[in-house]
Amino acid sequence: MIQLTDEVKFMKGVGPQRAAALAKRGITSVEDLIAYLPFRYEDRSHFATIREMKPGETYTLRVEVVEGQFLKYARRYGGLYHLVVRDATGRLHCRFFHSGYLEGRYKPGQQLVLHGKADYDPFRPARMEMVNPQVELLGPEGSDSTEVGRIVPIYEAIGSISPRMLRKFVHQALAALPAEMPDMVPAAIRARYQFPTRREALFYVHFPPQTESLEKLNSFRSPAHMRLIVEEFFFFQLSLAIRRRNLRKQPGIAFRVREPRVREAIKRILPFKPTAAQKRVLGEIAGDMEKPVPMNRLLEGDVGSGKTIVALEAATIAIENGYQVALMAPTEILAVQHYLSARRILAPDGYKVELLVSGIKPAQKRAANERIRSGEAQLIVGTHALIEDPVAFSRLGLVIVDEQHRFGVMQRKRLIEKGATPDVLVMTATPIPRTLALTFFGDLDNSVIDEMPPGRAPIETRLAAESSLPGVWESVRREVARGRQVFVVYPVIEESRAELKAAITEYERLSRIVLPTLRVGLLHGRMRSEEKEAVMESFRRGEIQVLVATTVIEVGVDVPNATIMVIEHADRFGLAQLHQLRGRIGRGSGKSVCILVAPKELTGDSRERLDTMARTSDGFEIAEVDLKLRGPGEFFGTRQHGELGFHIANPIRDRELLELARREAFALADDPSAQSELASLLTQLGANWRQRYQLAHVG
Ligand code: ADP
Ligand code: MG
Repeated sequence: MIQLTDEVKFMKGVGPQRAAALAKRGITSVEDLIAYLPFRYEDRSHFATIREMKPGETYTLRVEVVEGQFLKYARRYGGLYHLVVRDATGRLHCRFFHSGYLEGRYKPGQQLVLHGKADYDPFRPARMEMVNPQVELLGPEGSDSTEVGRIVPIYEAIGSISPRMLRKFVHQALAALPAEMPDMVPAAIRARYQFPTRREALFYVHFPPQTESLEKLNSFRSPAHMRLIVEEFFFFQLSLAIRRRNLRKQPGIAFRVREPRVREAIKRILPFKPTAAQKRVLGEIAGDMEKPVPMNRLLEGDVGSGKTIVALEAATIAIENGYQVALMAPTEILAVQHYLSARRILAPDGYKVELLVSGIKPAQKRAANERIRSGEAQLIVGTHALIEDPVAFSRLGLVIVDEQHRFGVMQRKRLIEKGATPDVLVMTATPIPRTLALTFFGDLDNSVIDEMPPGRAPIETRLAAESSLPGVWESVRREVARGRQVFVVYPVIEESRAELKAAITEYERLSRIVLPTLRVGLLHGRMRSEEKEAVMESFRRGEIQVLVATTVIEVGVDVPNATIMVIEHADRFGLAQLHQLRGRIGRGSGKSVCILVAPKELTGDSRERLDTMARTSDGFEIAEVDLKLRGPGEFFGTRQHGELGFHIANPIRDRELLELARREAFALADDPSAQSELASLLTQLGANWRQRYQLAHVG
């Protein structure tokens, strides 16, 4: 008898080589294999016939091989394999492109299941064909009841392990499920949604009964699928709920917010009248700071919506209460930028602002550290150097993290450990669709600045082909003559691939040949930080009129006089990146134009990215499209996705189930009368479950 904890390599037919391929997909134990679910299902209880096929429709056929032939001369298709099959009603021709691997594969008389779209043969319009259908070679008649005569699970191949082989392995693995399996989803929840048990659900999703609807199975909406999805979301949300609950139990600082002295200080630093959204959000933050539990809040606001001043107001509250504030930025450029604006706003009122980045000299750094230790420095701005070096704060009361998802959760934790549970404010300019915010930051409270400061002219976004670049440079000259400044952005620093223009080469060309009368500057990520700073400073002062740059300008750079941005190879940038880049212009009252230069012919995704940019500047709308195009893993970077450990749940497809799981998990965690139930649930969960959902540290 095999056990769930056994390694897959000891299963019949697996062996070391296949085990290695499985391990690459994270499948090492029998239990992991059971968690590998079919991505679709075929009803093979009755098959369509060749004669009934209509063009454009998808069919599953059971056929016999008449002949198969590899056409070597068809090189330009990467090799063409031609397969002729038949059933009782007729013959069908199939073509497979890029199919060298099929040479010699199929022999006359073999039984196959084909799944694919029928269409007319372009060369013989009266004849139907299938191009690149999925093929499964069947064993001798009646040899295996798992592959025909029922709804059959189709697994995605892993390396050289075919879907059919996977089906056999999984079938074998299911025998390891003990008859009595603990079911971790609380009984009340199971009853409420009429979910099957875990054991039933696992059998069901791999080998569903004939009575289930194929459509529900294929949309992952059978009761068994829903149960497994909810289960994953539930434990994940439970870890967030418990983390939030525990944090609220810790003693935090009860800042005095209402005292006239503090109120006046906040007002005094304001260089302009705050928008209604800024006021509301500051109210939410101040409300948190006032409470004797640590604040843990996410501040979302599109680029240019004015998060900085809100952060500095919060900082002022902490400083007026005698605490220090740490402000962390993802890059040195941005840290410097924050430092300069913080000093501009806070120094006139006598607040002491300190910059701590890796670029500064050792002697200066020692002095800065001393001022931080003594408490003389009140607002400390830096990058992760703030947590990686041994910085000792005197009285850290508030931590502000800008552009959070570039910082790992661990880094945030380490910084927090330096102070006695300071308040934490996380800021992000990447609008996060609500479902994802729930998934990833569900333990944070949320504030949104959904209004732009007044007097901003909307940015006009145009798409341009390379051939119209001369006209683009002409308008750059015109704008500069009117006193405006320009960004020109390239995807790469040095010419690595011939077809991509690189910032350095283009800088040379633009400054010498195309725009010789203008003052052109260069900024890229491989420059030393003093150099970068100097370039930014002279752009800010207007000495540089045209700044050629890579994506280093993506975040934070604030030059209201810059009104034109030209992005070359715009199709090479991600949607979020384009939106961030574009946010560097349109910061003043002058009309701004963003020109996206890209080839005329574009593939689906790049086309949709650029069209979206041209259509809207609403960060949330752009984030939704981005999420759709890239999926949640990519959206947040693969590392964080891996940490989630979802096997079957998909935060985008399963939004409504995520909401449901979240409600249930938070209700359980926050219900005082359910605490013993919760405690026993956490003890019962096996170690790997606790680890998978990061419940290990929260119980
Ligand atoms: P972000 O949210 O991208 O960090 P910033 O805080 O950098 O945005 O603000 C963008 C620009 O708008 C800055 O130049 C800032 O001074 C200005 N700004 C912010 N709030 C207001 C306001 N209420 N009225 C006028 N200008 C504002
Ligand atoms: Mg900002």
